[in-house]
Amino acid sequence: MSDDLLADWARKSWIESANNPACGFPLQSLPYCVFADEDSRPRIGIGIGDQILNLQLCARSGLLEGLPEPVQRACEAHTLNRLMACDRPGHASLRARLMNLLDSLADQSTRDAVSTALTPKSATTLLKPVESSNYTDFYASIHHATRVGRLFRPENPLLPNYKYVPIGYHGRASSLVVSGTAIRRPSGQTRPDPQAPPAFGPSRFLDYELEVGLFIGEGNSLGEPIPIREAGEAIFGVCLVNDWSARDMQTWENQPLGPFLAKSFATSVSPWVVPITALAPFRMAAARSSEDPSPLPYLFDAVDQHNGAVDLTLEAWLSTSALRTAGLGPHRLSQSNLRSLYWTPAQLVTHHASNGCNLLPGDLLATGTVSGPEDSSAGCLLELTAGGKQPIVLPNGESRRALEDGDQVILRGFCRRSGFPDVSLGECTGTVLTTC
Ligand code: CA
Repeated sequence: MSDDLLADWARKSWIESANNPACGFPLQSLPYCVFADEDSRPRIGIGIGDQILNLQLCARSGLLEGLPEPVQRACEAHTLNRLMACDRPGHASLRARLMNLLDSLADQSTRDAVSTALTPKSATTLLKPVESSNYTDFYASIHHATRVGRLFRPENPLLPNYKYVPIGYHGRASSLVVSGTAIRRPSGQTRPDPQAPPAFGPSRFLDYELEVGLFIGEGNSLGEPIPIREAGEAIFGVCLVNDWSARDMQTWENQPLGPFLAKSFATSVSPWVVPITALAPFRMAAARSSEDPSPLPYLFDAVDQHNGAVDLTLEAWLSTSALRTAGLGPHRLSQSNLRSLYWTPAQLVTHHASNGCNLLPGDLLATGTVSGPEDSSAGCLLELTAGGKQPIVLPNGESRRALEDGDQVILRGFCRRSGFPDVSLGECTGTVLTTC
């Protein structure tokens, strides 16, 4: 780790709540969001401690003067799309300015000016941060692929292409919703009895998927791939993703073209977009074993293999109506880590653009369910219950093989390393509506 990076991470803020190492929103993170306050108009902000800094007000009051014009204008938009479309030097200049404004070394007049643009998080509503034109979902966890594969092909769980090609499919961007949005149980075709014809009705095996999302920054032109060495910097920031899945519909419709209506009814994203550069201290070597085939040359970069994974703890929690009625908190279903992905974020980006496909600013690439090697680190109920055959028992005696009406799924993500403040991705929540 460079001295510059260490010096950056030693800096403190004059906003005291940001200096608590466990707060998750230190000076070095400054995740972007779109929020509404009392007059309900959406504005771009950044999280710092227990506050949100209103970037529209910063731009209008001259605090961003001297930054590139497109960056200043983008800070007055109602989503992060225009900011994401700015170039990387533009993003870096904005972050450097914001860190200086909030640094404990800032003078009193700066603090006074910045204070007028601060709002307590608790007084705001967080909105959908980005209007993504495209959403792609990968299948980058080898543990997820193996455990799910075993349910259907016990002798041969991992397909022969897995260690060569990052598997993915094109998801549905129009049904991306922000954390907190209620989830309507989908109806669709299922065939519970293989000897009987299919029927249409509400899904009886609704599931969540614990994932991380990568938002694309500037993007690439049609026909121009993104070399692996540049792919890490093509990512603007990360969020949490819950790829809600109707397993019974999926099983019936999946062959031969993959997921369709079993996934496209809703995908939740967390409201915070953590800049990719804020994850620098938590980088680590890719999980690929030395016994595995080397990535094909277009997916191989020694630096990426050495430092392209991210040590990011992920958790899934469940709160049921009965737990809430009894005054009991959510139950943790599992804990996993992004570092166990078989493919690095940069490899996912490079592979996506390798055929010349153009990635647009704000496009969302999700990793796929992030599961670890232990059964307790599985990132969805399909795995945790062995296909619904082994229900989970909750502390109040309830059991679950699938989500029921009133169930709330809470995803959490955070980076933690000794000597550094935590960097939180916040939460991504969704409650299954009661079916009429
Ligand atoms: Ca998924």
